[in-house]
Amino acid sequence: MVRAVLLGPPGCGKGTQATRACKARGLLHLSTGDLLRAAVRDGTPLGLKAQGFMDRGELVPDELVFALLRERLRSPSAGAGFLLDGFPRNVAQAGTLDLELGASGITRVVHMRLDDEEIVRRLLGRGRPDDTEPVIRNRLKVYRAETAPLIDFYDRRGLLVTIDAHGTLEAVAGRIDGVLFADPRGGRA
Ligand code: AMP
Repeated sequence: MVRAVLLGPPGCGKGTQATRACKARGLLHLSTGDLLRAAVRDGTPLGLKAQGFMDRGELVPDELVFALLRERLRSPSAGAGFLLDGFPRNVAQAGTLDLELGASGITRVVHMRLDDEEIVRRLLGRGRPDDTEPVIRNRLKVYRAETAPLIDFYDRRGLLVTIDAHGTLEAVAGRIDGVLFADPRGGRA
């Protein structure tokens, strides 16, 4: 059973790789960024609260994000395994996730490492509304301050594997699949 987290800076390819791997392996893809963007698009009360944070490249408050995620984690489709993409984003969210999952916790965390200049290059090429240069710079700052501590957090628990996120989609896919699906420890640390 794979219950994994893809962890990495904005632009590292988390979303692309999670979409691909989940489709190929029948896992549930849980992207808090996608869930939040859908809530903003639909103009839900939660979306209206989240929008300003997203526009500025800040983290949306934990309770709003988890309100979107909780029911999906509890859904039957999560029972066959899932990949989390963009969550947790800070140590508090990782703690909430632990409480929610209980004994059947996270099996692997794939840390996708990417150089700063490549991050900026990829995000500027992507053209999402929150991909302007000042917002990108802020998202990187937030990543380093809030999210990067999770690398150590999961490493200490023996769950972390770091892969190189440079190169083609196929090359990165091979590295991720090697960790999640080929490594005999991929299913359960
Ligand atoms: P992403 O698509 O994962 O890059 O997320 C886009 C934006 O949504 C981020 O810049 C945050 O504003 C917000 N967001 C996504 N996931 C989270 C999360 N787990 N916690 C807080 N904010 C989040």
